Amino acid sequence: MAAKTYPLLPVEEAAALILQHTAPLGTERVRASEAYGRVLARELRAPIPMPPFDASTVDGYAVLSTDSSPRRQVLAVITAGRPVATPVAAGTAVRIMTGGPLPPGADAVIMQEYTRQEDSTVVLQRAVRAGENVNPRGADIAEGQVVLTPGTPLGPAELGLLASLGVTEVEVYRRPRVAVLSTGDEIVEADQEVPYGAIRDSNRPSLMAAVREAGGEPLSLGIARDDEDVQRRLIRQGLEQADVLLTSGGVSVGTRDLIKPLLEELGTVYIGQVALKPGKPLTFARVGERLAFGLPGNPVSSLVSFEVFVRPALRKLQGHARLHRPTVEVVLEHDVRKTPDRTEYQRAIVTYHPDGTLRARTTGSQASSRLLSMVGANALLHVPPGQGVLPAGTRTRALLVGELLTA
Ligand code: AMP
Ligand code: MG
Repeated sequence: MAAKTYPLLPVEEAAALILQHTAPLGTERVRASEAYGRVLARELRAPIPMPPFDASTVDGYAVLSTDSSPRRQVLAVITAGRPVATPVAAGTAVRIMTGGPLPPGADAVIMQEYTRQEDSTVVLQRAVRAGENVNPRGADIAEGQVVLTPGTPLGPAELGLLASLGVTEVEVYRRPRVAVLSTGDEIVEADQEVPYGAIRDSNRPSLMAAVREAGGEPLSLGIARDDEDVQRRLIRQGLEQADVLLTSGGVSVGTRDLIKPLLEELGTVYIGQVALKPGKPLTFARVGERLAFGLPGNPVSSLVSFEVFVRPALRKLQGHARLHRPTVEVVLEHDVRKTPDRTEYQRAIVTYHPDGTLRARTTGSQASSRLLSMVGANALLHVPPGQGVLPAGTRTRALLVGELLTA
């Protein structure tokens, strides 16, 4: 089987083309308690105001701010959750704790620290402004206000907000199911004997973890020998079970590279190579509504291609408002050699310095077989094509793929 020849697409063009072929999956209702990490599909308006009542923000005495008498009779005590209907009028006060609902008539709370209680009366040691130490009903959130928009991932703050509003079920996008297949006669399972010339499968665990990080549900299709029928069967199986198929290996121009011709046979191949190092042989196809990515075999190439091309697509499938990681400008800490014909995404460590700059250093040898170049990296440094080096001190762009470090 021989593959067609494909134009070498610039990275941005290929990434945009993939997103054009990607649309959000359907939605489902889930319990809020199970919704961590899911992406909200519908706008959410507050069904109630927050706080739901005028609440005291301190421990003190609820009073009438217009009353000028320094001494007030204490009529009752309100603690959080235990409201009292006793009205406050001139010459009276109600003792109140933080979070307690203001009694009728009162319009302010004087902090306990500015009072002295003598038996059943309290002496105010300073004047009180109207509204002082009161969080009025609806001050945090107005009833009907839009509090969450579609495309928002549900994290700790969002889940707390849902609970505070009494929202226990939410409409979220379905997680993409992603079938992951490794290919190659030399590839063996990590727990198997490794005969001379064989290599353990590192791409499947890497890619399955990357799928999880991107919010997808990975499914393993195992390892396929470099055999047309075996690969065809597993690719079909993956496309039946999942929304997205990821293969690794078998997309170059070797005699046993079968992924491109198989995807041509089963669907439509839109991308056959990109001007990116590492990751040139990236292949992207659609088979009906399903997406198929033929990622390169080299461990670093497959992970970098995942980051640049697959991750944004998985986020688009699950309705994320933000598809891309942040791109920042960094200052090179050392000379970086360029590649003549392709943009290179070098794995780098970006550190924030006290002078306000982000500085980048690469993770050493950038061989595409060297997974250690990816370990600990928090950025992919854009190195434009050309001759010679980018000298230390040059400003260039970097895609932040992990946590920023501080110097
Ligand atoms: P290929 O494109 O299939 O020729 O693979 C390119 C290189 O990546 C070869 O050195 C393969 O042995 C290696 N490789 C392919 N698949 C994997 C895998 N799943 N895990 C680790 N290395 C792999
Ligand atoms: Mg191979």
